[in-house]
Amino acid sequence: MIVTTKELFKAAYGKYAIGAYNINNLEQTMGLFRGCIDSSAPFIIQISKGARSYTDKIMIEGLIRSADQVFPDAIFAVHLDHGDEQTCYDCINSGFYSSVMIDASAEPFEKNVEITKRVVDAAHAKGIVVEAELGKLGGVEEHVSVNEADAKLTDPDQAKKFVELTGCDSLACAIGTSHGAFKFSGTQGLHFDVLSAIQKNLPGFPLVMHGSSSVPQDEVARINAAGGNLKGAKGVDDTQFRRAAELGVTKINIDTDGRLVWTRVHREYFIEHPENFDLRPVGKVFMSEYAKFIADKNAKLGSAGQLEAVRKLVSK
Ligand SMILES: [Zn+2]
Repeated sequence: MIVTTKELFKAAYGKYAIGAYNINNLEQTMGLFRGCIDSSAPFIIQISKGARSYTDKIMIEGLIRSADQVFPDAIFAVHLDHGDEQTCYDCINSGFYSSVMIDASAEPFEKNVEITKRVVDAAHAKGIVVEAELGKLGGVEEHVSVNEADAKLTDPDQAKKFVELTGCDSLACAIGTSHGAFKFSGTQGLHFDVLSAIQKNLPGFPLVMHGSSSVPQDEVARINAAGGNLKGAKGVDDTQFRRAAELGVTKINIDTDGRLVWTRVHREYFIEHPENFDLRPVGKVFMSEYAKFIADKNAKLGSAGQLEAVRKLVSK
């Protein structure tokens, strides 16, 4: 059942966070649905611009429609990840997405407000909700001093103003996470002080954490032992998810970790089975490993075991 992120956030706020997972193909879709059913968790499927053009947007939407039939018990939102204005309108008008993200965070504050407001008006007219972004996530470089890194974090007073001016339904904040596998080159971690100040300014308002893969070191070691070359990869401590959830984070985006599962499974499989040229055996291993990975993340987010409570809430 496809619902809006707004409905999921209402159930989760202050208690746990909903996992938002990017998908690109059939095996990921199957693994995601299986993992969420196995762990009884509501979830958010994210489709990026890249995923829409990897094959064809109709293919990826078709996969999700089919999964909705194959897994009738699943409750999830379909969300555009990091949309530009045009892609947002395309998704809003498609009638399939329940939620879009407009990312104009690279623009100056006023321009970000202007673009976000236009998307919010178009989306709300069709009952679709909008995530916006304020602040700049980045790969934090070793030579950048703490002060410069701090300057990229979301300003709590601006956040309040931004939400009031745009009417967006949730806000992605920069609080110390970064995109990609090469996170936190130093001892940098989540800035709970900033998060707490944002929550104080926006009580009850759903916040979003991007770039929140944990980049498990054993996973990286296995990939490298099987011929990979991922150097210095680090991520977010996923034992901090629950604390972030208590401070108003209702959606946590995890993409890199899932890619690591894919890389590890395929590298190891073909080393162990050099005679194999059938794509299905390795695909089966991947779907099963991906489902386990998803169930494990949902347990860390606190969304595991919440499916029936959410069902009661959305069927009212
Ligand atoms: Zn992101």
